[in-house]
Amino acid sequence: MAEKKVSSSQVHKIIVKKPFPIKYKEKIKCPYCENSEEFYELIENATFIIHYFQNEDGTLDMLEEEVEILGPIRFFCGNCHADLTRLKEK
Ligand SMILES: [Zn+2]
Repeated sequence: MAEKKVSSSQVHKIIVKKPFPIKYKEKIKCPYCENSEEFYELIENATFIIHYFQNEDGTLDMLEEEVEILGPIRFFCGNCHADLTRLKEK
């Protein structure tokens, strides 16, 4: 896989650290409805750049997809939709 150029410090990266075992941090629990299983994230200001190659017959093949997240990323309870961003950042 080709190395992508990261032009700004605002691009988010997820780094998986090894070795195992993973230390589980304290579980997030919604303070409003006690839900601790389903959550979702809302990403604002994300730019998707999808590169295509056009074939002889006019069809398009996807070559590469780039995502730039400028944020903010907000984290919500999947049950009562309360904004739990602060709980996740702990
Ligand atoms: Zn909730």
